[in-house]
Amino acid sequence: MGFFFFTSRAAARFLEGIGRPGVSTAALLLTAASGGGLVAYADSAAESASESSQNAPKKKVLVLGTGWAGTTFLKNLDCSRYEVKVISPRNYFAFTPLLPSVTCGTVEPRSIVEPIRRMFEKKNKEVTFYEAECFKIDASKKTVHCRSAVGTNFDGNGDFMLDYDYLVVALGATVNTFNTPGVLEHCYFLKEVEDAQKIRRSVIDCFEKASLPNISEEEKRKTLHFVIIGGGPTGVEFAAELHDFIVEDLVKLYPAIQEFVKITIIQSGEHILNMFDKRIAAFAEEKFRRDGIEVDTGFRVVKVSDDLITMKSKSVGEVSVPYGMAVWSAGIGTRPVIMDFMHQIGQANRRALATNEWLRVRECDGVYAIGDCATASQRKIMDDISMIFKMADKNNSGTLTLKEINDVLEDICIRYPQVELYMKSMHMRDITDLIKGAIGDSHKESMVVDIEEFKKSLCHVDSQVKSAPATAQVAAQQGYYLADCFNKMEERKEHPEGPLRMTGGSGRHYFRPFRYKHLGQFAPLGGEQVAAELPGDWVSMGHSTQWLWYSVYASKQVSWRTRMLVVSDWTRRFVFGRDSSRI
Ligand code: FAD
Ligand code: MG
Repeated sequence: MGFFFFTSRAAARFLEGIGRPGVSTAALLLTAASGGGLVAYADSAAESASESSQNAPKKKVLVLGTGWAGTTFLKNLDCSRYEVKVISPRNYFAFTPLLPSVTCGTVEPRSIVEPIRRMFEKKNKEVTFYEAECFKIDASKKTVHCRSAVGTNFDGNGDFMLDYDYLVVALGATVNTFNTPGVLEHCYFLKEVEDAQKIRRSVIDCFEKASLPNISEEEKRKTLHFVIIGGGPTGVEFAAELHDFIVEDLVKLYPAIQEFVKITIIQSGEHILNMFDKRIAAFAEEKFRRDGIEVDTGFRVVKVSDDLITMKSKSVGEVSVPYGMAVWSAGIGTRPVIMDFMHQIGQANRRALATNEWLRVRECDGVYAIGDCATASQRKIMDDISMIFKMADKNNSGTLTLKEINDVLEDICIRYPQVELYMKSMHMRDITDLIKGAIGDSHKESMVVDIEEFKKSLCHVDSQVKSAPATAQVAAQQGYYLADCFNKMEERKEHPEGPLRMTGGSGRHYFRPFRYKHLGQFAPLGGEQVAAELPGDWVSMGHSTQWLWYSVYASKQVSWRTRMLVVSDWTRRFVFGRDSSRI
């Protein structure tokens, strides 16, 4: 999927520069080639070691997962302060935004992965890595149970147990089939590198199969019908990649069967790419229509058999279509180990682990969760309104003056970012506008509010509470934030930087809460065209945006090795086309 993220401020500035006229493609590429330094992965906070932690035994930090969240956390953690262990069944980091390019051989799988041990070796980090799967988290005993897929103990299994002081859960998510019959058995998924490799082989298989002798036209049509279920960024980007692969490479190699090829996207919503700006969704739908990619919106797939996909819509009812290959990219689900953990801690009815704004798992000491396996839930201001009022009412008068409100306003806005978002959405300049809007007081200076009026002023603010999407952009920002907190743990206990404690306790929170900054996203649509949603309600579409995409994705690679490999894959594709060998 091609929506992307700019995790560092520098990268955002980089983008702003690109919006200006006169920034040439060559300049973009130059920026890309030298862009490693811009990236969020720049080792930032790892310099200063604290003296206080020198003599005491180091606390044990255990990290589960080496995806976007886990790896960003580890890269930014000052590992000299802690005893760090990492568990993951994958001994590499995979750059998921380029996975769709792997499905058609635009980019080779090894170009988008970086071995975890190599990342630490290069940074001289003392980290112990175990290639194993965690199958149980026991928060009451502060232990996790793991199983190695490769090694075995003397008693015949690869199980072992590790304890921790701090646990960072970054296990990501799994595919969600919504229990649709036949999906697990017959559909391909696009979540891991192996999935992309399987898809690549299967596409070639379909072309070879349709080229065999004695195959009827009907059979050819079925075999060459590629169906993508889910019109989100992953599904759309895969459809675009597949279309390019077919029109740029395969039709030349399989000219006899090109007329039988068809690509269909099935989407349950009214539009594809519905998390993007409406202009982008419309542009994508129009482009796909011109390319001959069928987009069936308003259809929900209810069953998949080995040769038919059955779907339902309100207007048409139930229809079944024959297909040759289907890719399911309709949503993400919860990993079993997370589900089990949520049962233990009373969060059973959720999709992801609920954390507080500091990314600590609610009601769980020393356990943090970041990335796709978690959602940081923002507290509602109305739940705490009485306590906030009491805290702000310094002279215990039972009323708040404007000065009393202003004295705590900054802390309120840090603790409850929805206040600022709401004021912005209503075009209000300051808190007086908000209060005036609710109680209609025109005498700003003398404004005094009681608890009921205070409640009335803020009662709509919580409508602006949003949870961050499950993207690499969020996962990386959370990993970075949490590492920074871990690095400054001792320092912040003495010099807290967070907002005033409003819901119990006195003084300040040690840290500012995590705040997600959305820095833009891309949707590659094939034919060297990309749509991009940039900060500040900016939308850019077409060929020039494709160059922006190349630049950003090259700069975002985690090492110079992968950056070189990816750029050389793109060049190879330009010159020689994609390789259609079925290996
Ligand atoms: P992951 O990156 O999935 O990492 C989870 C880690 O946990 C992995 O290392 C895994 O091996 C490990 N693990 C799993 N089970 C266990 C276990 N039992 N024990 C121990 N370890 C375990 N987002 C964007 O912002 N922009 C994009 O362009 C974009 N494109 C995408 C394209 C595709 C095809 C896909 C699938 C996703 C894309 N995303 C994109 C989403 C992005 O990849 C995820 O949001 C991101 O990977 C989440 O990071 P994470 O660390 O939470 O999980
Ligand atoms: Mg007062």
